[in-house]
Amino acid sequence: MQVTTLSDGHLTLPRSLLFASLDPEAVDQILQARGIAAGPMHPPLNVTLLRHAGRLVLFDAGSGPGFQNTAGQLTAALDAAGVTPDEISHVVFTHCHPDHLWGVLDDFDDPLFPNAQYLMGEAEWAYWFDPNTASTISGDRASMAVGALRRLEVMEERLSRFGDGQEILPGVAAHASHGHTPGHMSFELRDGQQSLLIGGDAIGNHHVSFVQPEWAIGTDQDANLAAKTRLRLLDMLSHDQMQLIGYHLPKGGIGRVEKAPTGYRFISSFEE
Ligand SMILES: [Zn+2]
Repeated sequence: MQVTTLSDGHLTLPRSLLFASLDPEAVDQILQARGIAAGPMHPPLNVTLLRHAGRLVLFDAGSGPGFQNTAGQLTAALDAAGVTPDEISHVVFTHCHPDHLWGVLDDFDDPLFPNAQYLMGEAEWAYWFDPNTASTISGDRASMAVGALRRLEVMEERLSRFGDGQEILPGVAAHASHGHTPGHMSFELRDGQQSLLIGGDAIGNHHVSFVQPEWAIGTDQDANLAAKTRLRLLDMLSHDQMQLIGYHLPKGGIGRVEKAPTGYRFISSFEE
């Protein structure tokens, strides 16, 4: 297996969205200790590319042209990696938020990956494909639901669904990590003695979610369930010494997890 990450750019998010229910001073202390300047947050966007057994597999599809102007750079990153979109054989989704899903369509609303099979967790599909979700989800998330449904309708014919624990491709197992969204999925890759978790947004940042993993994050739809999932994954990753790719983690998002005096620490592969 050959695994790399490609940058789709970054997002710009107000702190009030990410840390809505937290004490701003306590958050500032954690961010300052990591050299993160005051003001909005700029989480990176790391799309994973797996080359294995003749397949070219993307995990998530980036933001596409219509979400934020600092995002949607995946096609340029693929080009730089020498990959054309028609060579992608599979696109596997962690969840249906815009920065992970909307990149399946190009500037003309046509599928960007014309030869790809799509793979998505059953619960995540069921939630966003339900036309009622746009009216039952909290108000500020309604546009995400409308945008997801429009894309899922285009994708439906070439999409297959899977459940927790299923081996979706050789050496790639689905790992339920619900909370960030109702059906969020992570993926365990195994190749010989090596293992790696593609964690999506289950561990959504390298600061607050590592130092205080039980604290509620504003972008998690079910913050309590997301915190339980995060604690379970951090424990597993540090205990089993598995590598982690996080969609919004720094420096390409690849690294490992270590226990720290308070909570955990993300150690980027580029720091070792
Ligand atoms: Zn995300």
